Amino acid sequence: MKYMSTRGEVRGIPFKDAVMMGLAEDGGLLLPEEIPVLADHELDALADLTYPELAFQIISRYATDIPAADLKELIDRSYASFTHPAVTPVVKKDGVYILELFHGPTLAFKDVALQLLGNLFEYLLAERGEKMNIIGATSGDTGSAAIYGVRGKQNINIFILHPLKKVSPIQELQMTTVTEENVFNLAVDGTFDDCQSIVKQIFNDLEFKREFALGAVNSINWARVLAQVVYYFYAWAQVSKETGEREVYFSVPTGNFGDIFAGYIAKRMGLPIRRLVLATNANDILSRFITAGDYSISEVNPTYSPSMDIQIASNFERYLFYLYDENPGMVRNVMATFQESGALQFPQPLKYRIADEFLAATVNDERTVETIRSFHAETGYTLDPHTAVGVCAARDLQLDDAPVICLATAHPAKFDQAVEKAIGQKPQRPASLDGIEDKPARCSVIEADEVAIKAYVEEHVD
Ligand SMILES: *Cc1c(COP(=O)(O)O)cnc(C)c1O
Repeated sequence: MKYMSTRGEVRGIPFKDAVMMGLAEDGGLLLPEEIPVLADHELDALADLTYPELAFQIISRYATDIPAADLKELIDRSYASFTHPAVTPVVKKDGVYILELFHGPTLAFKDVALQLLGNLFEYLLAERGEKMNIIGATSGDTGSAAIYGVRGKQNINIFILHPLKKVSPIQELQMTTVTEENVFNLAVDGTFDDCQSIVKQIFNDLEFKREFALGAVNSINWARVLAQVVYYFYAWAQVSKETGEREVYFSVPTGNFGDIFAGYIAKRMGLPIRRLVLATNANDILSRFITAGDYSISEVNPTYSPSMDIQIASNFERYLFYLYDENPGMVRNVMATFQESGALQFPQPLKYRIADEFLAATVNDERTVETIRSFHAETGYTLDPHTAVGVCAARDLQLDDAPVICLATAHPAKFDQAVEKAIGQKPQRPASLDGIEDKPARCSVIEADEVAIKAYVEEHVD
């Protein structure tokens, strides 16, 4: 399997190089040159596999240049760090299926991808005798998951930018209390979009990128999307086995369009997904895109679901590539227009195509809290605010013609303030958070400036 850029000037890249490259050198995002489609009997054969076995079945189709035994070992080790034997269990509550993606070390779905990516990096660096400096931006969950993915690993440093005081207290502690020497936390005086655009600028400085052997962990890395494709298959297998239904809906709380794009890839691979439900909080650029063909940026609004407080969705370009029938010239034009004007309007024929794949709904803070409250009252189950956005969106859309699987993207204990507001008590804390407030922490505050951040990296690599 080879990889190419959405902008068409990079092609024929093997999987291993695609993982190491992150952003393509023409400014686009890497995608497989073709997407394997599973036949019905291959889908049926997934039903009785464990999570790591199923992960191997999916990932090995894309990582064709890694020997099977090595890939198996990497996958097994990555998911052994999860505290639930099913890795991503599915539970049924009040008529909907909840796909619990939060049993990894940092209690959010990003561990599913970043545990694997950390191990892949370590494996590939050892093979090549190289070092890597990872630079990434986080609205909260990516940072801690990335840090846990590479903490203490050989030949890797990690620099994570988070918006100062705009992540939840627990998220901040999960990052800053990792004090291994290869981990650098930078609290940037700005928004998440500032952090993300600085990281993009740094990666676009090809000389700097080469000199410091930069690596990416943001959802622009194809390996992350790929790792996330797995749980769509896994959840589908559980639910279709239980219900006898072939088609399902997935409701996905969305920020950067990474998680839901993995669902889109699963759909293209033949997984019977009737529609993907794109659920946003008040930062609704993506739901406006789905419902009205309007992709135009506005201000970032802070909400109770901070990991979705995003205006520019970094994975959106990957979907555009397919929307424009895999035409990189169109993607280049459209992205240039967006760069200039901050807005894209899609014509009716494309709106029909978008509506064939996606539904969307927006859920504000008030309704998020109300959903946590009512779901808890009805079922005794505590949703985190991100998951609640997805559950509420699915309810709003009244999907009663196929089972609905809602992605639970974080453990409620990570966002205990919003949960307490809803149900009058803090959710129970899992063992991994015990005593986190009392641990030593390390973090540097820095201005939202590309030059300052490059200087920091230069100073701190050995
Ligand atoms: C990152 C994150 C999201 C959004 O996922 P995207 O891939 O950015 O769309 C939703 N919920 C939680 C808890 C997250 O950490």
